[in-house]
Amino acid sequence: MKVLEERIRQEGLILSGTVLKVDSFLNHQVDTELALQIGQEFAAIFGDQPVTKVLTVEASGIQFAMAAGIALGVPFIYAKKNKAVTLSEAVYSAPVHSFTRQEDYRISISRKYLGPEDKVLIIDDFLATGAALVGLCEIIAESGAELLGVGCVIEKSFQEGRGLLEQRGVPVHALARIASMSPGEIHFIDQEEL
Ligand code: 5GP
Repeated sequence: MKVLEERIRQEGLILSGTVLKVDSFLNHQVDTELALQIGQEFAAIFGDQPVTKVLTVEASGIQFAMAAGIALGVPFIYAKKNKAVTLSEAVYSAPVHSFTRQEDYRISISRKYLGPEDKVLIIDDFLATGAALVGLCEIIAESGAELLGVGCVIEKSFQEGRGLLEQRGVPVHALARIASMSPGEIHFIDQEEL
């Protein structure tokens, strides 16, 4: 998505070899017009599939899951993060290790909102190590729902997330794929526009 790549070039800050800060327009202050466009792009990519729910993880996937849900005409659910290890019967839950924050947490979704009748599209802001999305895949498997695919706004292709998801047979689409980056320099993988 060219407009997204341009914004990343203009406003993205590369904090280290692996962390890209885009909080002026994507995941702290949010450019709402761009977020809606991103939702429409995901709907164009996955719209031929019978999606019944969009799933993401709080907090920074929410605006894109909502935009995709609006464009597809379906609800979205965000998995909640909690440190508590207490498990309730009422939720599906999975452990996640965050490499960016070096902490362990659990994500959970109420059993009321996901079940074997659902066909799910996962949407998130970043695909990096894939740890959070693999946790979401485990929750979807536990619920008996079918996972149709994963859509990410930015993929850091030099990290292992895509590989982990593809190993599980999950189709992955990213709107901007970063091949490599270093302060002042960013290289995208060329993608055909829809
Ligand atoms: P994972 O490593 O599980 O793929 O990424 C988990 C979450 O960490 C992402 O959804 C995103 O919110 C955050 N994250 C990972 N890499 C980056 C990055 O380079 N920049 C920012 N702003 N967030 C990131």
